[in-house]
Amino acid sequence: MQPASTRPVFRFAPSPNGYLHLGHALSALTNYEQARAAGGRHLLRIEDIDPTRCRPEFEAAIYEDLHWLGIDWEEPVRRQSEHFVEYAVVLARLERDGLVYPAYESRAEIARLVAERAPWPHDPDGAPFYPGASHELSSGERARRRINEPFALRLDLAKALARVSKSISWTETGDGDTHEVTATPERWGDVILGRKETPASYHLSVVLDDALQGITHVVRGFDLYEATSVHRLLQEILGLPAPVYHHHRLVLDTDGKKLSKRDKSTTLRELRAAGLTPADVRRAVGL
Ligand code: GLU
Repeated sequence: MQPASTRPVFRFAPSPNGYLHLGHALSALTNYEQARAAGGRHLLRIEDIDPTRCRPEFEAAIYEDLHWLGIDWEEPVRRQSEHFVEYAVVLARLERDGLVYPAYESRAEIARLVAERAPWPHDPDGAPFYPGASHELSSGERARRRINEPFALRLDLAKALARVSKSISWTETGDGDTHEVTATPERWGDVILGRKETPASYHLSVVLDDALQGITHVVRGFDLYEATSVHRLLQEILGLPAPVYHHHRLVLDTDGKKLSKRDKSTTLRELRAAGLTPADVRRAVGL
């Protein structure tokens, strides 16, 4: 076997905000099998940055469901909630470099500003581009409001793009052949990278953790394909290496919609309780 430092590193990175369903099974099995085929390592990361939605029983269920599927991973598991300080340090650095600014508008104010200016651009996740003017505040005003008011820390997209002289792309293997995809972070506007009370968003924590854990191959659902543009931009401004990305097809419900954690009928525990075997699950997800 190759030494650990030169072996490819894969990870499955679920959020414990519900029970795993068939879509997660496809993701986890694809990761695990690609890691094994490549003689690589397989890590598990618990993406629990949102304390309002993540629960310990969902985390325990993740371990149980993955073991039932026959998947294993290296210990220790990385839990993002244990690393808020690391994310905060990077955010502070980005803010010092002028690449991130605190935005003070509440969700309601943002909705009002956007309604006044309709039609207004939205990002691929459906969130409106930032309509406010917090990035124009003087540094004194910024410092004063920072103490007293809640805020979201937003990426200053224009400044970030100015730092990156060349066009950014990623290597994609999701549809069979390996090819370069040009990243289009401008479609995301000034995304939120943290909040006053939670110093990390998905975009920031996923990029930092992939780098910290030495992930060489990111295998995940096609629903995160567009987000890869933001991830590549963050990797460039933070000087982090870019993994190879593999965005796999999604498992759809009978109406052709993406499976959701709210839809109980396809959770792995329901299917197991109904007598399905891991082999049945593999068939159900088309493996
Ligand atoms: N935690 C994310 C999710 O459960 C996946 C993140 C990723 O694979 O990049 O959807």
